[in-house]
Amino acid sequence: MKRLITLWTLIILLVTGCAPAGFHEPAPADGILKVIFIDVGQGDSALIIAPDGTAMLIDGGVPGAFKTVDQVMAVYGVKKLEAMVGTHAHDDHIGGLVNILNKYPVGRLYSNGQEDSRVYSAFLSAARVQGLSPQPLQAGDFFQLTDQVVCDVLGPENAQESQGNAASIVLRLRYGQHSFLFTGDAEKGEERAIVDRYGHKIRSTVVKVGHHGSATSSSPAFVQAAAPNVAIISVGENSYNHPDNLVIKRWQQMGAEVYTTERSGHLALESDGDKLYLAAQKTSQALAA
Ligand SMILES: [Zn+2]
Repeated sequence: MKRLITLWTLIILLVTGCAPAGFHEPAPADGILKVIFIDVGQGDSALIIAPDGTAMLIDGGVPGAFKTVDQVMAVYGVKKLEAMVGTHAHDDHIGGLVNILNKYPVGRLYSNGQEDSRVYSAFLSAARVQGLSPQPLQAGDFFQLTDQVVCDVLGPENAQESQGNAASIVLRLRYGQHSFLFTGDAEKGEERAIVDRYGHKIRSTVVKVGHHGSATSSSPAFVQAAAPNVAIISVGENSYNHPDNLVIKRWQQMGAEVYTTERSGHLALESDGDKLYLAAQKTSQALAA
């Protein structure tokens, strides 16, 4: 049975905004998995740091969010990314990744292979400067961030036959007893394909709710199959009615504690593979100081 200990704790480094002592060293290998949902306003960005310090970034918010993502990476001592994932080619997901590619060495780059936006062209150009070209991911694929941190790709079923949000890469990351489901902006059609293919195997401790909590996503069958302890909505000020109140209730009714980056700021989850801790702080101000 999954064990969850929720602690509202202070992450001193984030609160003070100071770089850690080992800033010029690789991210510290402290045996703890860290998943930080970065408050990038209306958009998505999640930084994953494996127990051995290996880092991965899933999305980077809008172009203007680069500074925030960069600051959070610095606070955690991340100097390079082993992997970067652009879930789909929209501005609020891969916009900030362009300057991250310009600044940080990246080992492996993943996308859904769709070149359907101007920002995606900029993303490809920045990748090319590093000699990278994105590897396409789709349902059934699998990759390891490290020996202990593995990612199953649940969607899209067929990137070439879908577009925009519906072609979002959906990843389920596993470490020890816990799993984290990253949904990009997947909508009901893609959710249905995932539930049809995987059923309750998508059960996860933590879910990054699809499409900023929009009513276009979080269909009842998907929410029921994922049944997380924690649901994170990455959202900022917007005119789309994100997040939808019924969507929030649906996740809560399945037993999830729901948090939004808009209200909580950066949301950092940490796990030793057994226990899971949640630390949330309104750190934007401290980071900008
Ligand atoms: Zn989005």
